[in-house]
Amino acid sequence: MRDPRYDVLFEPLKIGPVETRNRFYQVPHCTGMGYRYPNAEARIRGVKAEGGWGVVSTQEAEIHASSDLTPANESRIWDDRDIPALRMMTDAVHEHGSLAAIQLVHNGLHTANRYSRINPIAPSSALVDSDDPVQARGMSKSDIRDFRRWHVQAAVRAKEAGFDIVYAYAGHDMTLLQHFLLARHNHRSDEYGGSFENRLRLFREVIEDTKEAVGDSCAVAVRLAVDELMGTQGIQHDAEGRDIIEALAELPDLWDVNLSDWSNDSQSSRFSAEGYQEHYTRFVKSVTTKPVVGVGRYTSPDAMVALINKGHLDLIGAARPSIADPFLPYKIQVGEINSIRECIGCNICITGDNANVPMRCTQNPTVGEEWRREWHPERIPVLENSPSHLIVGGGPAGLEAACALSQRGAEVTLAEASEQWGGRVSLESTLPGLASWARVRDWRIGQLKKATNAQIYLSSRLAASDVLEYGMAHVAVATGSTWRRDGVGRAHRLPLDFIDAARVYSPDDLMRDGAAVISQQGPVVIFDDDRFYMASVLAEQLVDAGREVVFVTPTAVVAPWTDNTLEQDRIQRRLIEKQVRILPLHRLQGMSADTLSVECVYSGNTQEISCGSLVLVTSRQPVDELWHELLTVEHQWADAGIESVTRIGDCYAPGLIANATSAGHTYARSAGLEQVPEPRREDFARVRA
Ligand code: ADP
Ligand code: SF4
Repeated sequence: MRDPRYDVLFEPLKIGPVETRNRFYQVPHCTGMGYRYPNAEARIRGVKAEGGWGVVSTQEAEIHASSDLTPANESRIWDDRDIPALRMMTDAVHEHGSLAAIQLVHNGLHTANRYSRINPIAPSSALVDSDDPVQARGMSKSDIRDFRRWHVQAAVRAKEAGFDIVYAYAGHDMTLLQHFLLARHNHRSDEYGGSFENRLRLFREVIEDTKEAVGDSCAVAVRLAVDELMGTQGIQHDAEGRDIIEALAELPDLWDVNLSDWSNDSQSSRFSAEGYQEHYTRFVKSVTTKPVVGVGRYTSPDAMVALINKGHLDLIGAARPSIADPFLPYKIQVGEINSIRECIGCNICITGDNANVPMRCTQNPTVGEEWRREWHPERIPVLENSPSHLIVGGGPAGLEAACALSQRGAEVTLAEASEQWGGRVSLESTLPGLASWARVRDWRIGQLKKATNAQIYLSSRLAASDVLEYGMAHVAVATGSTWRRDGVGRAHRLPLDFIDAARVYSPDDLMRDGAAVISQQGPVVIFDDDRFYMASVLAEQLVDAGREVVFVTPTAVVAPWTDNTLEQDRIQRRLIEKQVRILPLHRLQGMSADTLSVECVYSGNTQEISCGSLVLVTSRQPVDELWHELLTVEHQWADAGIESVTRIGDCYAPGLIANATSAGHTYARSAGLEQVPEPRREDFARVRA
């Protein structure tokens, strides 16, 4: 039963000519499925509608070949040939009574048009904002007329494809409409540049055009960045951001407001808490009578209700919370708020778009598999005859396997060696900024505690003899991994024989025992060859404990893979602010009593740096002793009643937490199948005779 406090979240709301059934609004977000995987794209959006999101949006949809983001895989509405794929998405959304929204975009100087080979266009001649050595040409008046026509044509096609809400999009520093608004991109001297009114002109015209073209039956939404977090260098919510909304207040049917650029809009939990945009967006409702939607990684229904009751928002926007739990609204509706699988704010979903592949999610392993493998986030086929499953290891892989198997009706026993659940997420969530990662553990333990067919045991380190004694039909070994202490990684493929083991620490040491585990005086050198978050988080931990830290990495910037999670800038800035000495483009070459010798990756030139202790963040080693032990007694399995033994997660192949939850889920889904079906494909060539 729904808690009446949450009733307001289920009130319908008029948005121009259409009405949404509730206040849950999946704002436009990319999936990496886009135009190349239209079945996958349609299915994931349909699942969200089924889960109760009253409005479900596309990602940005390129309106013309001069806005060609290849190799990114967004939506496309270049011409009529795109309509059928988009129609699949709107049908999937309408099937569950939700509204479908499309975010039309022209990316202006944000795209190099690598596929279409058209010269990019911009308000004024300028380099494109990727590293492509390509310059966008300044638009003539006739280009502006063309652009307006393309936008209208795209809106008309969107209506034909069945969309209920059509966007004009000026955000993320990646759209032509925003480029015209910004003095730093718009250097024109005609009526489209210069004064505020002139820079606003095209945006106003495009909103008016769209209303005229499709406004009779479609709502026209505006997505606007109200602050760019650049101070006076950019739009500010209490300056031009406010001026724009005041000037256009009643023109659109809906205001979708956020921060720009994307790294500010989709801040990770390491850098911001739930509700981080509120300060910037709450003014909007005081300026317009039109409905307002905003985001802030909201997963708490109480926070959502407060936003509406305080008059800050009318609609609760979400991208990541709707990915981690597509059924979030449904769970509030039926009073199951403890079952909400809360987003942890890790931004692994975003790495999909940045790597131009369908996204995955740490918390929701069914993401990207809705069509490919017919996986539903809530439903999973029941296993016949309740087979018994022993899962060894209570990290993300083991927990997810146990959860999904118990949901399938198996008799599950989960044994964990240590005194706490969660494996690596419990360790990592103690590090600076990563507290919400514990949600990976907490949601699964919550589910398992409710299950009547799951027995879970802490402080239970199992040896092969124990596994034989349990005599369960199926055994999953999910015993994880440990960080290496010998320097092996990418830059050093063989163990480093010069390392003084007494002065070397691994991330495991620091996570288990804290910074105090390092007893030596002198600077702590962190060598990062992992290139993701771990080394920078440890640097913070050590600086916070009063240690002098030197960060050595073979890469040009700190933690380059965090570019994909939109965190790289913030991480490097934070280390600089914390006075960490950063030594890029170096690998290790030697170690003496109180120095470390490091070598330039290009020239081979070496230098000595002062070093009391060395933290190696390189690669991990599977903890697979139990697996090997079990192999040595394979001849006893059948007598013990064991039918299968499978390694999953980091003990099979160390990877992301998302890989581990995916491995656990895949294992559970595969149970009982003679043969696991090949995933569907839609990436093969469509050959025409
Ligand atoms: P993954 O990411 O694959 O889930 P983790 O390292 O996070 O891996 O978790 C593995 C868990 O397995 C850890 O909590 C560890 O304590 C536990 N574990 C390791 N060996 C055993 C064992 N022999 N018996 C029970 N639990 C074990
Ligand atoms: Fe949230 Fe991480 Fe899932 Fe993205 S990948 S939705 S940030 S839990």
